[in-house]
Amino acid sequence: MKAKNQMDRDKKRNSSDQMFDSLVQNALDFLLRSVFEIQKNPKSSVIDFCTAIELFLKARLLIEHWVLIYQDPKSADLNNFRKGDFQSVGMKDAIPRLENVLGSKQITKDAKETFDRIRQHRNRLIHFFHPAYTDKPGNTSIQKVVAEQCRGWFYLYPLLTNSWQNFFASYHPIIEMISSQMLKNRDFLRMKFDAYSQGIEKGKAKGKVFLACEACGFEAARIVGEKLSGPLFSTECLVCNNQSRVFQIQCHKCSSNIIIRNFFAPQPDREIGDIEISCNNCSTLMSFEDILNMYPSDPDESYTPFLAICGNFCLHSKRKSAVSFCDDDERGCKWVCLSCCDVEGEAWECDNCGQLITGEFIGPFCVLCEFGGEPDSQFPSEHIM
Ligand SMILES: [Zn+2]
Ligand SMILES: [Zn+2]
Ligand SMILES: [Zn+2]
Ligand SMILES: [Zn+2]
Repeated sequence: MKAKNQMDRDKKRNSSDQMFDSLVQNALDFLLRSVFEIQKNPKSSVIDFCTAIELFLKARLLIEHWVLIYQDPKSADLNNFRKGDFQSVGMKDAIPRLENVLGSKQITKDAKETFDRIRQHRNRLIHFFHPAYTDKPGNTSIQKVVAEQCRGWFYLYPLLTNSWQNFFASYHPIIEMISSQMLKNRDFLRMKFDAYSQGIEKGKAKGKVFLACEACGFEAARIVGEKLSGPLFSTECLVCNNQSRVFQIQCHKCSSNIIIRNFFAPQPDREIGDIEISCNNCSTLMSFEDILNMYPSDPDESYTPFLAICGNFCLHSKRKSAVSFCDDDERGCKWVCLSCCDVEGEAWECDNCGQLITGEFIGPFCVLCEFGGEPDSQFPSEHIM
């Protein structure tokens, strides 16, 4: 006979597994309705899409510990948990809670802002009657919802299929089905793109760069504003308003601009010091050192270590991807990840491996030393379930 506490543990695990499955099934159900009924009912589509994101976040929290999906974890009770009779955590609290327990920022700042805008939109629709979404919804309201879903999916999809793939793998076929409908829904945005296309062509003729938007796919993303740090700039899409980041580096031979989203994507196995980029215009190769030489070195400590592991652990290994870029103005020196484009003002040293990690201190050990593998690929350990 099993020891009593072993049996209790099994019971908790079974309830958690069942709850996880029903949260995910529900999330997928809401997503399906949201993407397939967008034209018929854009208002419900917004609400369902937001509910789906919230449910996925809850499901991910549940994997860490069942009490975490309570609005107030102190009131957690296994009996009402089993019955599903409790006030669960909302999106706003679920995200910081996830960050606390996972010890890394898998939900990037841009993702958080995007999810939050979706949440606010949902709340407005629930609380205030909006005539644009009644009877026969017009093209503009449908376009608005499609654009919002493009942006939301751009951040949700990689969580489900990459960062958290271990947990959501069995739902992959349906996630892909939703994804392909998302791609089809982009067609609603074509009219908006067409309206801009003349201006885009004119801009291109003047040497402006327009990139294919990662969220909606239209070649309508352009660099906006001043650089963030070193070679990093913000971009915004004219069609879906998705905001993203790119590196813009001037070719040292022909002076044309080289645009890169992720230095590691075309050369995934290289160490940071070995990465190279090539100019689209004159094919000149530029080495990592060539790129660094374009920026001033740290004025205070010229020999300070200037490479670090990204605090998002975006390379899933101890390879360094962050560089300290210094600018001659109020921007000063910042840590910039050449893989995920994250910018951080500080870095800290792991007590175990001695590596520098960008971002706020979450030590004493880095996530890679703490869990001894890929961040977040670990299954919950006995003591937490
Ligand atoms: Zn776009
Ligand atoms: Zn060139
Ligand atoms: Zn990174
Ligand atoms: Zn470490």
